[in-house]
Amino acid sequence: MKILNVKIVTAILNFMMFLLCMSIFFACNKTGEKAGRWYRGNLHAHSYWSDGDEFPEMIMDWYKSNGYHFVVLSDHNILAQGEKWKLIPKGFIYKNAFDKYLKKYGHDWVEYREDTGRISVKLKTFSEYKQLFEEKEQFLIIQSEEITDSFEDKPLHLNATNIREFIEPQGGASVLEVLQNNINAVIKQREETGIPMMVHINHPNFNYAVSLQDMIELEQERFFEVFNGHPNVNNYGDSIHIGSEEMWDQINIAYVKRGKPLIYGIATDDSHHYHLFGSEYSNAGRGWIMVQADSLTSGSLINAIDNGRFYATTGVTLKKIQFDANVLEIIIDTKSGVEYEIQFIGVERGKQDSDILKTETGAVATYKLNEDLLFVRAKIISNKLKKNPYREEDFEVAWTQPVTFSENE
Ligand SMILES: [Zn+2]
Ligand SMILES: [Zn+2]
Repeated sequence: MKILNVKIVTAILNFMMFLLCMSIFFACNKTGEKAGRWYRGNLHAHSYWSDGDEFPEMIMDWYKSNGYHFVVLSDHNILAQGEKWKLIPKGFIYKNAFDKYLKKYGHDWVEYREDTGRISVKLKTFSEYKQLFEEKEQFLIIQSEEITDSFEDKPLHLNATNIREFIEPQGGASVLEVLQNNINAVIKQREETGIPMMVHINHPNFNYAVSLQDMIELEQERFFEVFNGHPNVNNYGDSIHIGSEEMWDQINIAYVKRGKPLIYGIATDDSHHYHLFGSEYSNAGRGWIMVQADSLTSGSLINAIDNGRFYATTGVTLKKIQFDANVLEIIIDTKSGVEYEIQFIGVERGKQDSDILKTETGAVATYKLNEDLLFVRAKIISNKLKKNPYREEDFEVAWTQPVTFSENE
């Protein structure tokens, strides 16, 4: 009898828990306010595994101790697997950096050899360095590769995040074909493994390799770097090429017309240089994304990114981005003494270009969409100069993802 009572009570409690969970679930979805913490991450960085100038552990240590929750090492055409010995470059900077590394991690961890005055170090693999740093809900390292392909003299790079197997650059007979073949290779691996993965187009204006028309013709590409911290990537274009932010809106004008999902903008470091600092170097800390996800796992993060629950930034932090009942609301996590301008940028139906539709100063701003707009996004510009910027005189900025009007709201 007693056992039966316990069973009934347990069943009732379980049912009540179920009702509670369901009500929370629907309440969250109804208001459009997505549950989840904000996680900070960089999806593009290099190490000694390719042309970066530092050991993976030192780079991971930098990101972890500088407030990042997730990071990748996306080396060129390689995964950090198997045995790789790095001959330390000549010069006291690199010798000092090695000494620092050896001192920090010790002779038991660092495997190296000296031959005729040069030092070679066995690089730690992804699974080795990952377990040194990862902590539940604190820090996550995701496997990644910068698929580094080309067409004629044009460098064509894509980052494949959370892949399991190395992807060989696929090649092709045009810029578009090379990009598409590589996108397809990532999607194929994702479908075959069932593991969440993402692929994004890197620095389209690097050598002005990827044109607007190429971007427009791509199929199944959802992400590209609207900001990349490497000095040679021409984020802002020049007198004859549009910048990547203008390119973003132009791509989306075409995507809306073709019924394709909008492309989202990412900011990354593309860090290579960890010892010398300045605008001529690609240093860590220039651009990142903030993702609002249920938990700090690659699956949760990629799911949130797929759904546009993230923004790109070079320093501005947001408390809240909400899109509900066709109203886009932005709340800035302000820093004292810093002023902000919130621009709502969008495209009116029938127009060929985006416009600043509304500008607000202060910490909070809203914009109500109507059916005459193809999409709207927000850009938040601060009057705080970026430290060690991509370009001198750059202010800290954030870009939210574009949203579209819905008749059902
Ligand atoms: Zn690249
Ligand atoms: Zn890169």
